[in-house]
Amino acid sequence: MNPQDVLKLFKDSQALLTGHFLLTSGRHSDVYYEKFTLLKNPAICTRICEAMAESFRGSGAETVVGPTTGGIIIAYDVARYLGIESIYAEQGDSGRVFKRGFSLEPGQKVVIVDDVLTTGKSVEEVIALVNSYKAHIVGIGLLLDRSGGAVKFPYPVHSLATVSAKSWDAKECPLCAKGEPFTQRGSRKMSVS
Ligand SMILES: [Zn+2]
Repeated sequence: MNPQDVLKLFKDSQALLTGHFLLTSGRHSDVYYEKFTLLKNPAICTRICEAMAESFRGSGAETVVGPTTGGIIIAYDVARYLGIESIYAEQGDSGRVFKRGFSLEPGQKVVIVDDVLTTGKSVEEVIALVNSYKAHIVGIGLLLDRSGGAVKFPYPVHSLATVSAKSWDAKECPLCAKGEPFTQRGSRKMSVS
């Protein structure tokens, strides 16, 4: 699956939305990649995860870790292709935590995966969590890097697709300046990402 295939999936599945969006990062944007439109479809999701898993074949990875919520699904299916286990990192009082008895051993080889990267905060939190166990991060897998590659990590990053999607601080948002209300998506809260 090449980057064009991934972006086509977003387009064809109507997962690429335009409007005025409040992202989880707190930033505002005129585009929103609703990854759950892809992840809710097992046949599509598994193609994505298979492609992501290929990046880590031969890496010696022993565990895949993803942040809630989309990261749970991706980590699980990537781990299935690699024949290893997956765990997920949940929101704690400050940063990410493992619950449900999840843990890592010192030196354990870990792949971190996530869906759509905007500011990289979720991935940074998972990196900090994994490092707190002194586990070894062999790489990071992303479905879509919407920072255009601007967000960097000190590990090999494999993004299935990269786009430069604009986002702004609330103070600098041109859509807010025009008084445009946030786009409501379905009946759900608009701020999910
Ligand atoms: Zn705005």
